[in-house]
Amino acid sequence: MAIAQVALAVPLRRLFDYIIPTHLSPNVGARVTVPFGRQKLIGIVVNIKANSDYPEAKLKPIDACIDVEPLINTEYIKIFNWLCRYYLCPPGEVFVNLLPKKLKQGDPDRLVTEPVWQCTNTPANISERAKQQQALYDYLRKQGSTTQSLLKQAGFSKSIINQLEKKALIEPVDILAQPPKPLKINPSPYQLQPQQQNAFDIMKQKSGFATYLLEGVTGSGKTEVYMQLMAQVLAQGQQVLILVPEIGLTPQTLSRFQQRFECEIALLHSELNDSERHNAWLKARKGIAPIILGTRSAVLVPTPNLGLIILDEEHDASYKQQDGLRYNARDVAIKRASVESCKIILGSATPSLESLNNALQGRFVHIKMQQRTQKHAPPTPQLLDIKHQPLQAGLAYGVVEAIEHHVKQGNQALIFLNRRGFSPALICHECGWVCQCTRCERHFTYHKALSQVVCHHCGEINKPPAQCAECGSTQIIDWGIGTEQLADWLTERFSDAKPIRIDRDSVRRKGELENKLKAIENGEHQIMIGTQMLAKGHHFPNLTLTVIVNVDSALYSSDFRAVEKMSQLLVQVSGRAGRAEKRGQVILQTHFPEHEYLQTLIYKGYPALQKKLLAERHQMQLPPYYYWAILRVESPQQAKLLTTVELIESLFNEQIQVHYQNVNLFAVMPAPQEKRAGKFRHMMVFQSIQRSMLNAAMQQLVMSLEQNSFSQQVRWTLDIDPQEM
Ligand code: ADP
Ligand code: ZN
Ligand code: ZN
Repeated sequence: MAIAQVALAVPLRRLFDYIIPTHLSPNVGARVTVPFGRQKLIGIVVNIKANSDYPEAKLKPIDACIDVEPLINTEYIKIFNWLCRYYLCPPGEVFVNLLPKKLKQGDPDRLVTEPVWQCTNTPANISERAKQQQALYDYLRKQGSTTQSLLKQAGFSKSIINQLEKKALIEPVDILAQPPKPLKINPSPYQLQPQQQNAFDIMKQKSGFATYLLEGVTGSGKTEVYMQLMAQVLAQGQQVLILVPEIGLTPQTLSRFQQRFECEIALLHSELNDSERHNAWLKARKGIAPIILGTRSAVLVPTPNLGLIILDEEHDASYKQQDGLRYNARDVAIKRASVESCKIILGSATPSLESLNNALQGRFVHIKMQQRTQKHAPPTPQLLDIKHQPLQAGLAYGVVEAIEHHVKQGNQALIFLNRRGFSPALICHECGWVCQCTRCERHFTYHKALSQVVCHHCGEINKPPAQCAECGSTQIIDWGIGTEQLADWLTERFSDAKPIRIDRDSVRRKGELENKLKAIENGEHQIMIGTQMLAKGHHFPNLTLTVIVNVDSALYSSDFRAVEKMSQLLVQVSGRAGRAEKRGQVILQTHFPEHEYLQTLIYKGYPALQKKLLAERHQMQLPPYYYWAILRVESPQQAKLLTTVELIESLFNEQIQVHYQNVNLFAVMPAPQEKRAGKFRHMMVFQSIQRSMLNAAMQQLVMSLEQNSFSQQVRWTLDIDPQEM
C-alpha cells in the first residue's frame, strides 16, 4: 500500500498520512485534496512511503489530485523540510507562506490571462500636458503589443492605460499566451574599476555553493558587479534570484535591471494583487522568468534552475518575518544556495554583525569595496552638541542655518526623524498625567492634522482628550516632536522650499510614494522630512544636506542591537548626501557628542565600530556568538501567564536541560512592551553556543508544550534567531 504524507494548512507540527487509492498517482510536490475531519483541505504531498505509523484502518484515502506536474521539485522539498526543522514550525505554516492565494485555493497552475495592449491606427492627438499618456503611447509604439503587467512594471498605471483606451489610441488584443520575451543582455556602459574587477574575479572563479559577503560603501558600484555576474549566469540559461528590502521604494533598482536585461522579470512584493502574484510566482516556478526580483517572501518561490542569488542590503531588518513563519530570508537564501549548489552574494555597505562574524569564521568569503566610483568621498558627519541649546521644533539654530544655506544654493535637504505623528505624547500641564492607551499602557501619539490620538503599538484610535483624566484641567499640552510637527514648522519657516513629509501617515495610498519621490527627484521640493521610509536606497542628485534629529535614543536602549541598527541607518542616510557631483554635509544632533560609539563611528568608521560591538557581544555572550531562541508567551490574564511561564521554566529545567547541558535559559522576563492590545506578554530567552544543541532542545520543548495541557492556557510562539526582543 502506498501512503502519501501531506502538508496541510493546520497549526499542528506534523504531516498527515493518507492512503493513495489505486486510481490516483500523485507526485511528490504536487497538490491533492484530502478529507480532514468534516472538511476538504488542499495540501502538498511531501513524501510517499510504503507504511504508516498509524493503524491503516484509521487512514483515509486522498480525494483527488490537483496537479499533474509537481508544484515544487525535490530540491525544494529539501528546503520545505529544512524550514520545518529549523524554525520548528508546523508544516502548514510553510505551506501557507509558500503558495500564492490562488494556488492555495486549488486553482490550476496556469498563468491567468491578462490584457495585452497595442496601439491602434487612430492618429495620436495627446495634449502636451499629458506627459504620461504620451510616454505610454511611445512605449507601446516602440515595444509592440505588451501585457498589462509589463506596462505596470514599466511604471504606467491602470488609469493612464484607461485614458488612452478611451481616446481609442490603444486597444487590447486577444493573445492568449504571449510567448515569453527572448533574453537579451545589453552591454554594460562601464569598464569595471579595479576594486569591482577584483570582486568580480573572486566571485567568478569558483563554481558550486559559496557565500560572498560583499561589503561595499554606498556608491562603490555593487550593483554593477551584481549585473556582470548575472549576465554570465543568465547567458548559461540559469535563473537569478535578487532580493531587496523594498521594491516600491526603489523603482530605480528595477529600471536598472530592466535596462540591462531585456527578459521576463518575475516581480514579487507585497503590493501585488492575487493574479499578479499568481503569475509572477508561476513564471519563476516554470522558468519562464530568468530573473526573479522581490522582497523577503520571494526567497520562498520555487525555481527550476537557479544559478545565482543576490541579497542586497543584507543587514536590513525587513528580511526577518516577525509573525507566523518567523524566517530570516537571508538564512533561507543561504540554505537554498547550498541545496541548489549555486553562489549567493550578500551585499551591504554596513553588514550585520551576524554576517561579519560568519566572514571572520571563514564561512563567508569577505570582499571589500571601499572607494566610490565617483570622485567625491562621502561626507564626514558632524556631531552637533545640543545640550543647553534652544530648539525649534527639535532643531538647533545651527541646523536651521545650514538648511537655509543649502536651500539658498538651490540644493535639497533631508531631515530624518524616526518618529511619526505631531508629538509622541499629550500630557497634563497641571499634574503630569499622560494620555495612554489602556490596552498597551503606553502613551498615545498625537496626530494633529487628523485630530486623533493613535496608539502606535496596537492601532487604537481616540479623540484627543479635552480634559485631564486625573485632575480635570484643560491644559493639555503636547510633549516631544514628531515628523508632523517638524514638517509644519519647516513649512512655515521655509515655505518657498516646499517641504514634503514622507512617512506612513503621509503616504498611504498605492502609488503615492512613487509620485512623491518623483516630485522630489524633479526638484519640486527642496526639503524632505522623513522616517526610516526615506532612508532606503533613493537617489536624489540635488541632496546636499542630511540632518539626523535624534541619535541619542539608540545609545541608551534596552535592545542590544540598537547601536548596530542606528549606525547602519546613519551610514545609509549619510550616503544619501552628495551622491552625485555635489559635495554633501551631514549633521547629527546629540546630547552625547563624546560618546565612544559616536566617536568611533564618525572618526574611525563603521568597520571599527562593528569590531568594538563584536567584542562586546562576545564578552557578554550575546548573538552572534551565542545562538538564541525566544519563546514568547502571552495571555489576557496576567496571573495565568505568570504561572504558565513558571511551569514552562521548571519543565525545561527538569526534563530538558539535563539532556542538553550547554543550552541555558538565559532570561525570563516581561517583553519590552509588557502589555499590547490587551494581552500581557512574557519572553523566555534560550541560548547556546551550539546551534544544533539549541535546535534539539527547542524541539523537545515544543513537543512537550504541545502535549501538555497547561500550555494550552496561553498563546505561545517560538522565534528562532530572533531579531527583536
Ligand atoms: P552601490 O550599489 O554600491 O551603492 P551603484 O552600483 O549604485 O553603487 O553605483 C554607484 C554609481 O556609480 C552608479 O551611478 C553607477 O552607474 C556608477 N558606476 C558603477 N560602476 C561604475 C564604473 N565601473 N565606472 C563608472 N561608473 C560606475
Ligand atoms: Zn492633570
Ligand atoms: Zn495600544
